[in-house]
Amino acid sequence: MSTATDLIENASGMKAAQLSRRHFVAGMGALGATAALGLSGCAPKDRAQIAETGEDEEAEDFDAVIIGTGGAGLSAAIAAYDNGLTNLVLLEKMNVTGGNTNFSSSGMNASETKFQKEQGIEDSNDLFAQETLDGGHNTGDPELVTFMCDNSAEAIDWLDSLGITLDNITLTGGMSVKRCHRPTDGSAVGLTLVPGLVSAAEERGIPIRMKCEAKELIVNDGAVEGVLVDEGGKSKKLNAHAVILASGGLGANQEMVTKYRPDLAGYVTTNQPGATGDGYAMAEAVGAELVQMDQIQIHPTVEQETSTLIAEGVRGGGAILVNSEGNRFFNEMSTRDKVSAAELEQPGKFAWCVFDQQVYDNNKAVAKYDKAGIVVTGTDIADLATKIEVDPAALQTTVDAYNAITTDGATDEFGRTEGCIAFAPGAMYAIKVAPGIHHAMGGVRINANNQALDSDGNPIPGLFAAGEVTGGIHGNNRIGGNAVCDITVFGKNVGEVVAGMFA
Ligand code: ADP
Repeated sequence: MSTATDLIENASGMKAAQLSRRHFVAGMGALGATAALGLSGCAPKDRAQIAETGEDEEAEDFDAVIIGTGGAGLSAAIAAYDNGLTNLVLLEKMNVTGGNTNFSSSGMNASETKFQKEQGIEDSNDLFAQETLDGGHNTGDPELVTFMCDNSAEAIDWLDSLGITLDNITLTGGMSVKRCHRPTDGSAVGLTLVPGLVSAAEERGIPIRMKCEAKELIVNDGAVEGVLVDEGGKSKKLNAHAVILASGGLGANQEMVTKYRPDLAGYVTTNQPGATGDGYAMAEAVGAELVQMDQIQIHPTVEQETSTLIAEGVRGGGAILVNSEGNRFFNEMSTRDKVSAAELEQPGKFAWCVFDQQVYDNNKAVAKYDKAGIVVTGTDIADLATKIEVDPAALQTTVDAYNAITTDGATDEFGRTEGCIAFAPGAMYAIKVAPGIHHAMGGVRINANNQALDSDGNPIPGLFAAGEVTGGIHGNNRIGGNAVCDITVFGKNVGEVVAGMFA
């Protein structure tokens, strides 16, 4: 473990072998940045006091340890590496990389991007920020939201430079402008993003340690100086100047979910099994403030048997929601909280997501849902209605009224103005959906340097956080497409910030 004290010693050539090249070259210069970012300037005193597991664990030294290989962790590692911080490691407790980011279905919201400009879409960072804050009912942190939106176009360019091109742009609920950037073929973003970021990490030789679970942060005099991990049943100490929490959310931890939201007991979740909220517990244990932890987003279109999230792009591309009586009941393009609440008021607390062949063909994900056996197919409206046990006449009336918005310029009785595309005659489809636990919007409080803050707003030296584990960006309602923006912008940012400590 090298500390700021070591850096001074290192500048005079001592302990060089223990430090990375950048680190060695950095010497005294690093000390200023170190102090500015609140890194520990103290030599370790007594590690036994914090590691009750004893002194016999294996210890390794890093400049930075990143916990989690979702979009935030991978972005952080790549950005740190490209900014000169090469002595770093990524930890993943599961045996697959990518976390919930793998399942990101919509895309990445971003404003003032080169792709929007090429496609004649007028947008502004201010409008993006305003609609994000409005979507979260003004409970999001304006500083973090502004930072995210202002840096979103650069993040799109950065991903493009890594070979992750998101130039197919659509609309998500709560946004008035097409700014949800998807892969060229319109497929779910996660399946392009994660492999792209993993390849970029591998090309750089960034080590990813699979089935390596962070258990506890090592603290010394209030500063975080590493992580205790369990790797293959063995306890190890990974010492580090900076620990970046990128461990995602808590949806798969029923106990934690119901601790913050007792009303969500029994809900299915779209989250992967590793989303157990470890980061919140570790951060809280070292004095980090957790904010808005009761803000757990439920997503309105989750197929309940398989917990499959039906992408918002399906509704954005024209699909409607009808109840068991064959009637629409709400503006499908409204925010997730409102659509979920409306669904729960319907008989049986579910809805059918109904769409035609055009929607099927324009959303790559639909074929995947079909393959998974969750799509009901009808040769026409009446056939579909019979199959989903809805009155055919009622469904026909519903579709006719919906079509009239496009064909006759009729005003929608539910106020839907976006993504209204008349259904073509022919095959019709339906997926049974209900709300499911989707995203933790609360979490570790950070500033725009991604430093974890204590309850007085002071940075905890050595501790950083990015992605879903953080709180305050989305407020009490996250807009579809904003999570990928959040993890990319703040993941990239924390990598740059931490690398800057050694520059
Ligand atoms: P984000 O969208 O913020 O990047 P993800 O859910 O995509 O979040 O990724 C978080 C990753 O962190 C997941 O792959 C998850 O398995 C991993 N993770 C969670 N807790 C730990 C832990 N204690 N140690 C190592 N990895 C963890």
